[in-house]
Amino acid sequence: MFARLARAILGTQNDRALKAYRKRVPAINALEPKMAALSDAELAAQTVRFRERLAQGETLDDLLPEAFATVREAAKRTLGQRHFDVQLIGGMVLHEGKIAEMKTGEGKTLVATLPAYLNALTGKGVHVVTVNDYLARRDAEWMGQIYRFLGLSVGVIVHGLTDEERRAAYACDITYGTNNEFGFDYLRDNMKYRFEDMVQRDFHYAIVDEVDSILIDEARTPLIISGPADDSSELYRQVDAVVRELVRDAGTYEKDEKFRTVTLTEDGTERAERMLREAGILREGNLYDAANITIVHHLNQSLRAHTLFRRDVDYVVRRDPRDGVDKIVLIDEFTGRMMEGRRYSDGLHQALEAKEGVPVQPENQTLASITFQNYFRLYPKLAGMTGTAATEADEFLEIYNLAVVEIPTNLPVIRKDHDDEVYKTAREKYEAVIRLIEECRARNQPVLMGTTSIEKSEQVSALLKKRNIPHQVLNARFHEQEAYIIAQAGAPGAVTVATNMAGRGTDIQLGGNAEMRIRLELANMPDGPEKEARAAAIREEVARNREIVKQAGGLYVVGTERHESRRIDNQLRGRSGRQGDPGESKFFLSLEDDLMRIFGSDRMGGMLERLGLKEGEAIVHPWINKALEKAQKKVEARNFDMRKNLLKYDNVMNDQRREVYAQRREFMKANDVSATIVEMRHEVIEDIVAKRIPENAMPEQWDAAGLKADVQRLFNLDLPVEDWAKEEGIDDADIRDRIVKAADTLMARKTAEFGPDLMRQIEKSVLLQMLDQVWKEHLLLLDHLRQGIGLRAYGQRDPLNEYKQEAFVLFNQMLAHLRERVTALLARVELAPPAPPPEPILFSRGVHETRLDPGEAGALEPAEGNGGTAVLTRPARARQTRVDPADPSTWHATPRNAPCPCGSGKKYKHCHGRI
Ligand code: ADP
Ligand code: MG
Repeated sequence: MFARLARAILGTQNDRALKAYRKRVPAINALEPKMAALSDAELAAQTVRFRERLAQGETLDDLLPEAFATVREAAKRTLGQRHFDVQLIGGMVLHEGKIAEMKTGEGKTLVATLPAYLNALTGKGVHVVTVNDYLARRDAEWMGQIYRFLGLSVGVIVHGLTDEERRAAYACDITYGTNNEFGFDYLRDNMKYRFEDMVQRDFHYAIVDEVDSILIDEARTPLIISGPADDSSELYRQVDAVVRELVRDAGTYEKDEKFRTVTLTEDGTERAERMLREAGILREGNLYDAANITIVHHLNQSLRAHTLFRRDVDYVVRRDPRDGVDKIVLIDEFTGRMMEGRRYSDGLHQALEAKEGVPVQPENQTLASITFQNYFRLYPKLAGMTGTAATEADEFLEIYNLAVVEIPTNLPVIRKDHDDEVYKTAREKYEAVIRLIEECRARNQPVLMGTTSIEKSEQVSALLKKRNIPHQVLNARFHEQEAYIIAQAGAPGAVTVATNMAGRGTDIQLGGNAEMRIRLELANMPDGPEKEARAAAIREEVARNREIVKQAGGLYVVGTERHESRRIDNQLRGRSGRQGDPGESKFFLSLEDDLMRIFGSDRMGGMLERLGLKEGEAIVHPWINKALEKAQKKVEARNFDMRKNLLKYDNVMNDQRREVYAQRREFMKANDVSATIVEMRHEVIEDIVAKRIPENAMPEQWDAAGLKADVQRLFNLDLPVEDWAKEEGIDDADIRDRIVKAADTLMARKTAEFGPDLMRQIEKSVLLQMLDQVWKEHLLLLDHLRQGIGLRAYGQRDPLNEYKQEAFVLFNQMLAHLRERVTALLARVELAPPAPPPEPILFSRGVHETRLDPGEAGALEPAEGNGGTAVLTRPARARQTRVDPADPSTWHATPRNAPCPCGSGKKYKHCHGRI
């Protein structure tokens, strides 16, 4: 009550913010005559002047009024559109790194040109993010006219570009593209081996269109690049056969029971090499050549499987009753219980399977992944625009530090939003909807009907067919064609059925969209007077239709259910009444709707009884709207909490990824990583000495033999460590120094042998490869950890803390592995006949990119019964082939009864799909 009173007197925070923005508009408007007086060339030269002024120390904020005035003038000359004052305000909000909430049809595409231009003056690149390829192309082309006029370059990133094309597009001042493409490019870049192969520049500023869709609905959608999974089972078996033979002779390996490590002796290595070569596994070079890392890895795991793991002690072989396949089941060392479903990582489990002759289970290995949430948090400055953000303002602020500013419409909205109509059953509800549609059609009023799923769209479509009502159904599959259908959804008497997500990015103009009709209907006509005449006729027809539709009351939006979140309802409603157009909206509900059933249905039922709800009759009352809004707020809050909780888990991996990628970038940029290599080597030595010579231990307690074996394993050096240990007065520091000296000498000799240039190359390549290798293994471990962590949520322990701690331990282990592997590998590198450099994992066979769609990701639901903790499942289902209307080679994936992607309006099977 008090809050409302205070708002009435003082205005909302939003009002105050707007007031400040409004004050800055006159300065821009005042520059208009001056700008209008400039010649085209003079106007374009503004860009050069602005850049000079920036170089002299002026800030972007200083330049804002003039820059905005310049863009406005350029838009007038190129597009014939003059930014409205509210669009200038939107531009300021975006420039400040906030979210501009502007209703559908307010011209957000044009708004983005202002901050994009201003921020691109720095030369650091601006990304404008759209939800699909079609929109990226459309906006880049459309707005590109302004940028190019002003001497800025524009690029667009869409599916199917080469790296070269991508690099060129990213090098532009302004780059349009989809969230998918930006995200995958980031992941791909961080899997490359040379800095110059990367396509993206450092991130600077991004403007995300439809920001709620990307940063809320799809926030946790991960982009995943995953790699060779199934094709190594043969290799496991082949290596197994070699190792089986090898370990018959105990002299081929040495094992350390205490640390559970095993290494090949010199003799063992030689024999392994020979056998692998004979078996055709080792094709060229020596075992320890950089190109043979994978083989060495398999060899090691198989060796461990054969020598350190005992059947019926460490594991059992058991037939899985679910699929009748024999499997390796691990046994808990302490409890002796079988650990169903647990697998060793790193290929060890597969090696055990090969050893026991049971089917080798493929493991889908994640090579890199990132969620949209985390991708967009990488930008130092982020801004967003959408028609619907205010209901989610808390979440934007808390998670992305993005404030939301609601910007008033250019013209007042005169749409009539009717109260909801509630029925007892769904059947009655749909009958009422159909009645309304028939009424609308009788007076030529177009109808846009929203449903909550594609399935429901199809049901509604069947009902409409029964009544012989012509209509169009939108599914989110064909972006370009969909844009066309939406553009015509405002034609007199048109009926369009859409799922709530569908159709974003194109606005519905009353009477239809003349330009789109011309483009599509006259696509095959040669330019000339005839085409001009036809185009003029279409424009006239659309203008006439516009008047007809306005008379009929504008676009009628019908909701057939309320969505879980008010935002989605608002999106639907907002399609009508754009730019001061007339329009209406109404939601039809029934007690059988999901939202009604799940939330507050009892209270609602009681309330409706009191209001006198009867079979076959509707009830309309503002109370119902209030009650529903409450239910929606509850669901929104619950979903936000869930996302917040999951984010805490994501953050752990995110921090680690940042660290690894930053480090990787450094390595990639450097020509010489030898300092790092030396440091790693010395640390490795430090570690083994510390392990074998405990602090304050008497020399008799030293494990000199173990240390000797370590040195052998790591450096292939035979040092008299046992003799050293017997020397009078020697301590661990002396031992360490001697090993360091021996190892340094060895490496110096190798460097001299190869020549420093080659050695530097090898070091860098080994370092990057090994980093990728351990990181990839680490990802898998983290994944397993996260899956398993919910199971520990008993007792007083907080699963998130457990996860954090263990993830930290694993990270350190990963670094230790990295040091060891790099050191050992370099100590063994031989000068081989020039072999082709290894391919980055990214380009090897079997790597594919997946985007887990929110609907598909079981990952979004917290598992039951463990206190709301996230137990993530991994539905590693690759996306179906996407049909891209711009790329005929993808059209084959069109369902036979779907509209043809060519845009003809005919069914695919009657058009391009005709056999
Ligand atoms: P939004 O993304 O906000 O829904 P769009 O950017 O798709 O809106 O623009 C909707 C329509 O309004 C487009 O046809 C666009 O050309 C037009 N438009 C936008 N701004 C202006 C303007 N200042 N003057 C004239 N037409 C405009
Ligand atoms: Mg838009």
